[in-house]
Amino acid sequence: MPVPLAPYPTPAPAPYTPPANGAQSQLVCSGCRNLLLYPVGATSVCCAVCNAVTAVPPPGTEMAQLVCGGCHTLLMYIRGATSVQCSCCHTVNLALEANQVAHVNCGNCRMLLMYQYGARSVKCAVCNFVTSVGASASTTEQKFNS
Ligand SMILES: [Zn+2]
Ligand SMILES: [Zn+2]
Ligand SMILES: [Zn+2]
Repeated sequence: MPVPLAPYPTPAPAPYTPPANGAQSQLVCSGCRNLLLYPVGATSVCCAVCNAVTAVPPPGTEMAQLVCGGCHTLLMYIRGATSVQCSCCHTVNLALEANQVAHVNCGNCRMLLMYQYGARSVKCAVCNFVTSVGASASTTEQKFNS
């Protein structure tokens, strides 16, 4: 006996599940140079300020940051580059390690912290927990020497 065909089930929209660890990355908007936060795994980011779509660098690309010596804009570049030209004032900045900014998640509250590359520890501004970063930095160094 024929069974009446049920209407094609419309899949319920999956509830938005943020990444388990809530990991976020940053990039600089290609349009307005604002620093954008995006969830890890995204392939492009639409800027809420100027609506420009900025492609996310492929995973594994190590991005580094430095502050422009001319206009103090935060610049982003692929780690290993030796110089970075500022898109605002066209100053060419030497990508010295001393100028680099690195990131670490607070060991206590998981807040994303920025610190000067080469620092051994960074103190969280939120919970005052001191997160040690020395070990991971030296691992990165060894990779370059091999
Ligand atoms: Zn923008
Ligand atoms: Zn500049
Ligand atoms: Zn913290």
